[in-house]
Amino acid sequence: MGSSTRSKPHAVCMPLPAQGHINAMIKLAKLLHFKGFHITFIYTESIYNRILASSSPDSLPCSTDFQFETIPDGMMAGDMVSFFESVRDDFADPFGELVKRLNEPSSGVPPVSCIISDSFTSFTLGVAAELGIPDVFFCSVSACSYLGMLQYDELIRRGLVPPESERDLSNSYLETSIDWIPGMIKSMRVKDLPNFLQQDKIFKYFKDEVQSALQATAIIMNTFDELEFPVLNRLSAIFPPIYTLGPLNLLYDHIPDKSLKNVRSSFWKEDHDCLKWLGDRMPQSVIYINFGSVAVFKNQQLIEFGWGIANSGHDFLWVIRPDIVDGDSAILPKGFLREIEGRGFLTSWCPQEEVLTHSSIGGFLTHCGWNSTMESMSFGVPVLCYPYFGDQQTNCRYLCDEWGIGLEIGDDVRREEVAEKIRELMGGEKGKDMRRNAAKLKENATKASEVGGSSFLNLERVIKEVLGKERSCI
Ligand code: UDP
Repeated sequence: MGSSTRSKPHAVCMPLPAQGHINAMIKLAKLLHFKGFHITFIYTESIYNRILASSSPDSLPCSTDFQFETIPDGMMAGDMVSFFESVRDDFADPFGELVKRLNEPSSGVPPVSCIISDSFTSFTLGVAAELGIPDVFFCSVSACSYLGMLQYDELIRRGLVPPESERDLSNSYLETSIDWIPGMIKSMRVKDLPNFLQQDKIFKYFKDEVQSALQATAIIMNTFDELEFPVLNRLSAIFPPIYTLGPLNLLYDHIPDKSLKNVRSSFWKEDHDCLKWLGDRMPQSVIYINFGSVAVFKNQQLIEFGWGIANSGHDFLWVIRPDIVDGDSAILPKGFLREIEGRGFLTSWCPQEEVLTHSSIGGFLTHCGWNSTMESMSFGVPVLCYPYFGDQQTNCRYLCDEWGIGLEIGDDVRREEVAEKIRELMGGEKGKDMRRNAAKLKENATKASEVGGSSFLNLERVIKEVLGKERSCI
């Protein structure tokens, strides 16, 4: 290996092994690669195999300076509690061994100069401290939900989170006003905070992980200054230096070198036929429905959505993951499929960013995952919100009350409400306001990620100030 390659800064990227977290971190990794970094991107074994199976072999290329490594999956049993316990307990050792192996001169790669860790995989801190290298957390959820998670201790102190056995998740409790968090909007209620109240172990996992960010060298966030200014101000007063690089999808779109364009990270095979179908539709005439990679529903909820979407009268593209129905496969009534013929496209996974930039998309019915939120905002698409869990509740509140581009569908989903809200979004007066706000946010997001914008400059800064020496310019 030439001395110039050996002297490259080397970032080891450890995402939380989940679709949304991986998608966002891989964009950051590609940006750093473009800036001259050697990248080692870490998957768990099963996720590596899954991505390989769902896409072409060049989605995981063997490039000399962008390489993939794997660690074992640990003791995950398929449920969320065992997932997080496994991340907490089983990953630190193999991760540490891998980083040390990469660090040996015989590895053939530059010495590891920094770790980029998901903000919810703090097990990386140990080996970073041992090697004396920076560990920069990458927060792939919104700043507002991150600030929400930071309140968990205070919620307990105020008696708002009694032990699980005594917790009463009735409406009167969930509607309790939370107007005391500095930096946050005043319309928050218990149910709008990142919602892990059903499960003590998961609640504790996130409570501890957010606290661990105090030990990180810096924090990178997939948001932009103008969007979450008061929240970011508050977080900056508490945490190590914060660098906002969002929307990462737009920042990535601006780099001219597309040599890693084919590096994809979808867990399911992307159906590109839907783009052709969208091509035959009128501008802003289609509602796009997608609940991300984790949300699961009862089949009856799906049926209510189905009839609501069909009865709205609008053309639609609906992505129904094969595993979206809890413990079963999704079954839609025969009459439904007859009813939607010619005006609905159903598929199981799509290239979402391409869909959202398509001119025929007029609205997005979403679970409010942060990546979906950022992507929708980047392309000026207003949303209907049906949050499922975690940070999505907080994103929903901000989309509706603060950013003015969201309309919420009630928990107990009914077809009449779905149809009515789709019509409102696509053609009503409120929908028009939301579309105007979405266009403005798109403009701001674009400005932030363009040359000279806040996210563009923060990428330069985090490299110069924390991650290593900069080699080239966008
Ligand atoms: N995504 C996609 N195709 C789909 C559905 C989702 O490519 O059919 C991508 C989407 O663009 C986003 C990620 O998967 O980058 C989902 O992340 P998000 O944070 O929105 O939700 P999560 O899946 O984590 O709940």
